[in-house]
Amino acid sequence: MRYAHVERPHAAHEVTLGALLAGVAASLLCACAPADVKQSNARPDVVLISLDTLRSDHLSAYGYERPTSPNFDRLAQQGVLFEAAHAPASNTAPSHMSFFTGLDPHAHGVHPVTASHAAADARQPVTSLHPDLPTLPEVLQAQGWSTTGLLDDGFLLKSMGFERGFDRVHNKRTTLIEKLDKLEGFLQRWDRDEPQFLFFHTYEPHSPYLPPRKYHGKFTQADYNGEFRMRYERLLDVPLKSAWNAKGHFLDSKGLPEADSVEFLRGLYDEGIAHTDWGLGELWRLWSEHRDASNTLFVIVSDHGEGFGEHGHLGHSYGLRIELLRVPLLMIGPGLTPGRVSDPVGLVELMPTMLELLGLPAVPSSGPSFAPLARFQPQESGRAVHSQFGRLNGVDDSITLNGLRLLRTESRAGVKLALFDLSADPYEANDLAAARSQSVQSMLQLLDRRRAEAQSWRDNYPAGNGSTLSKEDEEDLRALGYLGEDQ
Ligand SMILES: [Zn+2]
Repeated sequence: MRYAHVERPHAAHEVTLGALLAGVAASLLCACAPADVKQSNARPDVVLISLDTLRSDHLSAYGYERPTSPNFDRLAQQGVLFEAAHAPASNTAPSHMSFFTGLDPHAHGVHPVTASHAAADARQPVTSLHPDLPTLPEVLQAQGWSTTGLLDDGFLLKSMGFERGFDRVHNKRTTLIEKLDKLEGFLQRWDRDEPQFLFFHTYEPHSPYLPPRKYHGKFTQADYNGEFRMRYERLLDVPLKSAWNAKGHFLDSKGLPEADSVEFLRGLYDEGIAHTDWGLGELWRLWSEHRDASNTLFVIVSDHGEGFGEHGHLGHSYGLRIELLRVPLLMIGPGLTPGRVSDPVGLVELMPTMLELLGLPAVPSSGPSFAPLARFQPQESGRAVHSQFGRLNGVDDSITLNGLRLLRTESRAGVKLALFDLSADPYEANDLAAARSQSVQSMLQLLDRRRAEAQSWRDNYPAGNGSTLSKEDEEDLRALGYLGEDQ
């Protein structure tokens, strides 16, 4: 059972962040670090790179037919590539807060600000992480890492808790090129002997897919002259900020557009990925010039995918469809042997996994780690992978176990269950729930247990919602398409 190894506090006031972090420090003193972890002054740097909205099957290393990702593919040869990593949720804030806490989205309660959560006067409340729940940057900071956040604003707001634990933060919407310039400035100033933690987040792959012009036409059809071509070209002549302000509406469509439009959008998305991949290569180059890349734990990940009509939708944040859950995960670092892991893993477990790889104990609020898989150590079969997605009228849950995925969707219309065989039907076209009711029932029990655990954490450590968005934040979120939608 997920949290069986930790003592659940009975009330929020019984455990504080300080106490949790003190527990981490005390555990370190018990010499529990694995033998292969470098100690004290040889502590590795840590780089967590989140490439927002990047579905894994659009990368060549995951079998994509277009050459979108030469840099990622090259790095994949040097590290552990997880072939089946599932995002915690299909939207930015819940997924990233799960990366940072090891908690399910429903447990930490940091959710998207949508019309469903809006105050009556249309000023939007922001949910913020409970102050006693530790985040990855806080844990690393408490353990002596110097911590830097290069964030892309939008949904990773200070008021939500995303800037906690950073010694320095740059949280501003910029191009990828500007962000890399900022990183180079940091790298030039950092003490070489001090272990660094960098969290690098970019919205570059997000719609409306606006890489520099040299990428235009790389994967899109020159003879397409439909509605989305016109929308796109209108964006190219306006400043970046204005273009971002059109993001939320770029994919708007009554029903799914015609196939040629969807194909054009897929091409635009791939052009954005190609630019993002260039940025990844640049980041690697800069890091290698200024730091010891061989003594750095790199984790490259995304928070959710992007739909192109597989289940009737464009974009993301429309539930837990498989095209939104499959994201890349690549780990490169000291003690890790290059290879591929086929077992599914849940990125809710990213934080405890990173802490274990660094020789640090997990915090009590996080779940199990998949570090043994990263080390290719023998594992018991039957490892379950979970995702959750909050809606106005309920919570969607997903569990993947032994090649099957059960999806429970809650809405005003009631609860719907769907079961898919991922090996035979990787894009989930055939619902087997009616035919395999026994599997549904057994997986449903696990889902219910998981939801109850999440609810318990949510009850003990409720997310705050006392603050409101600034006008600027509200505009940014509207630009990303997260305001005014009931999902
Ligand atoms: Zn996102």
